[in-house]
Amino acid sequence: MAVSHRLFRPATSTVKNIFSSYLIRSLSSSSGSSLDPEIDLKEAASQLEKSSSSSPSPYKGRNFHWVFLGCPGVGKGTYASRLSSLLGVPHIATGDLVREELSSSGLLSSQLKELVNHGKLVPDEFIISLLSKRLQAGKEKGESGYILDGFPRTVTQAEILEGVTNIDLVINLKLREEALLAKCLGRRICSECGGNYNVACIDIKGDDHSPRMYMPPLLPPPNCESKLITRADDTEEVVKERLRIYNKMTQPVEEFYRKREKLLEFELPGGIPESWPRLLRALHLEDPLR
Ligand code: ADP
Repeated sequence: MAVSHRLFRPATSTVKNIFSSYLIRSLSSSSGSSLDPEIDLKEAASQLEKSSSSSPSPYKGRNFHWVFLGCPGVGKGTYASRLSSLLGVPHIATGDLVREELSSSGLLSSQLKELVNHGKLVPDEFIISLLSKRLQAGKEKGESGYILDGFPRTVTQAEILEGVTNIDLVINLKLREEALLAKCLGRRICSECGGNYNVACIDIKGDDHSPRMYMPPLLPPPNCESKLITRADDTEEVVKERLRIYNKMTQPVEEFYRKREKLLEFELPGGIPESWPRLLRALHLEDPLR
């Protein structure tokens, strides 16, 4: 974390201080970053709650404020984005926000890219600023509610979020450890449309303790085939580091929400065809398109 220590002040002891001092100020002025330090997460969140949705979802107006937790490769993006379409609320993935921000050039970008490409977390201040900016943009478009994916990832982030908005539900996705690495290594993204695919075919034999698990590949349509790219942090070494960091930094977040009785544990039984209907049942939801 040498880079982050050079660039950011360490987190202060109370949530209030962390949020109100909004440390990103020094970051944006010294780096020329496009981040806006004046955007207030609390203000953005409360405006989101007030604004009305224009989505045709049957769940329109229910203003879901949900969070997805789970190890790298578990499928947070896949299920969060499906739920987002079903519920008519935006799917906000901080990993996507980070990658978007880091695609710009500049010293700060390249230093933060170093962290991301080595499987480390970026500083809380940076991620909170990105999220605030995204919520603000949503507010201006009249978005209502959200499904957060990849945030919060530290207890500090969870405390900040808890202090500014009311999260209704936290879905903790779980998948057998053997499948996680294979899923990250098999992940492919279409550089043109942004579609997420997976070339891995996971077939784990059953034993006395657990049943067989089969997850077929999720192959791209022909027009994406030649445009597939792999994320720079989806290498074996970096995925192992991301899993290590998850266990150290994010598992305590599970406990944070468990204590507050907001955590729904969901063990993925296999691929999308098997898992999606079960997830819907666990959430007491119905998909009219099924
Ligand atoms: P993963 O597949 O590991 O869940 P993501 O796409 O969610 O990956 O995030 C990619 C990277 O972006 C992370 O490894 C981390 O460097 C950074 N990142 C995303 N969200 C956060 C966060 N809430 N706090 C700190 N860093 C984050």
